[in-house]
Amino acid sequence: MLSTIIAKIEAGARLLPKEALALWDLDLLTLGRLANRVRVRLHPEPQVTYVVDRNINYTNICVSGCRFCAFYRPPGAPGGYVLSEAELAPKLQETKDLGGSGILLQGGLNPDLPLSYYENLVKFIRQYGLRVHGFSPPEIVFLSHQTGLSLTQVLERLVSAGLNSIPGGGAEILVDRVRSALSPRKCTAAQWLEVMAAAHRLGLATTATMMFGHLETLAERTEHLLKIRDLQDETRGFTAFIPWSFQPGGTALGGETAGSWEYLKTLAVSRLVLDNVPNLQVSWVTQGAKIAQIALSFGANDFGSTMLEENVVAATGVTFRLSETEIRRLITSAGYEPRIRDHGYGSVAEGGRGLAAKDYYPQPPSPTSEPRSTGCQPVQHRQDACAPGQKCWETRIGLNPPLPPAGQDACAPGQRGWGGELEGRAEEPDSPGSPLKSPHLAIIARVGAHEDFLRQGVRYVGGRRHATPFGESNPVHLFEHQG
Ligand code: SF4
Repeated sequence: MLSTIIAKIEAGARLLPKEALALWDLDLLTLGRLANRVRVRLHPEPQVTYVVDRNINYTNICVSGCRFCAFYRPPGAPGGYVLSEAELAPKLQETKDLGGSGILLQGGLNPDLPLSYYENLVKFIRQYGLRVHGFSPPEIVFLSHQTGLSLTQVLERLVSAGLNSIPGGGAEILVDRVRSALSPRKCTAAQWLEVMAAAHRLGLATTATMMFGHLETLAERTEHLLKIRDLQDETRGFTAFIPWSFQPGGTALGGETAGSWEYLKTLAVSRLVLDNVPNLQVSWVTQGAKIAQIALSFGANDFGSTMLEENVVAATGVTFRLSETEIRRLITSAGYEPRIRDHGYGSVAEGGRGLAAKDYYPQPPSPTSEPRSTGCQPVQHRQDACAPGQKCWETRIGLNPPLPPAGQDACAPGQRGWGGELEGRAEEPDSPGSPLKSPHLAIIARVGAHEDFLRQGVRYVGGRRHATPFGESNPVHLFEHQG
């Protein structure tokens, strides 16, 4: 079976679940070679991305009591905190001053915080011109229980406050046998996936994570990957996958951490199974700089973030730190060009060494009243998400139109075109207004992009506009989904 699997990977074919499980029988270097081949296929340009940001944990008070967590404090215990705006302000200003584009915002499940606290928190951060990549699924499920609102309603409230995207934390292993042993008071695997599906339906990009190397079997690790792959087939909302190894220091669970061999093997298997998730991130915060650098040859194409602040892994006693300069040096000396992105993975700077995110996101563009071509909408709240000549979402589903000539984008600056917030989403054939009678893929594409799809024989069945957190979308082109 292993030779069949290798042949399928080399041909770009999808692995069956039993083949995904059999990957663990391959040796490390073969897995690395295959994963790197897939990485090059998905990202032919020799570039590695990273984001300049800060992890802010707004509270460490938590009722979940996960056995793998050294960060939380139970309600009423010494050392519990909730960050005030006065405490947040210098952190935000420093992030902004250092060229940061956003905040990764997560916290414990604190029963004393109302939904308005979260809304005000997001609004406060957005005042600094920073994106908010916040609230992993356990927090959303907890808020839903606290407020009696549905998951979608909670998400809508947060999006209205300014939430931009959602981190994929709290996934651990998406198998309830493992979850009930690790964190019995946390959301189930199905709930985690339900939050992500709801977020994707609202147009929010999210990441997905996997914390491995504790109680799970290799079959359960594989099951986790397949659940992510299945949901991604439906929603296309995951921008990246981030596997990281359990750090036992200071935790109730204890034990040993997975070593670098196990980490690299898991990273490579992730790249090979998750054929529909565009980006794979290294975890230098748990593996350190040297293994993170090697991970770039095992399927990863993203170096994560500068993490001007990190508290959760640090609580276990693991204290790897890297400056932006060091990250760029590590990427360059591994043979790649560093590129800054934001938390949405939609914007990758084209500039050279020393380019800061603030250079790439200088100011919102002036509104444009005369679209360059039919269908490009003037946009006042953000600039186009892709720089001229960059590839966008179409490349990720194998329908790769030719790149625009250098210096030319499909839309003029300030227009919403085929930016990084292109979305593919599965929709119910019978949803109101849908002209579809079978499962399909809906694509918010740049003007004319659908013609590239048509040339490749994908059947176009109609188009319509959607309400999104940013206003009404460009026409959504609907195509038959070929699987
Ligand atoms: S991992 Fe999150 S939910 Fe679990 S105890 Fe720690 S802070 Fe609470």
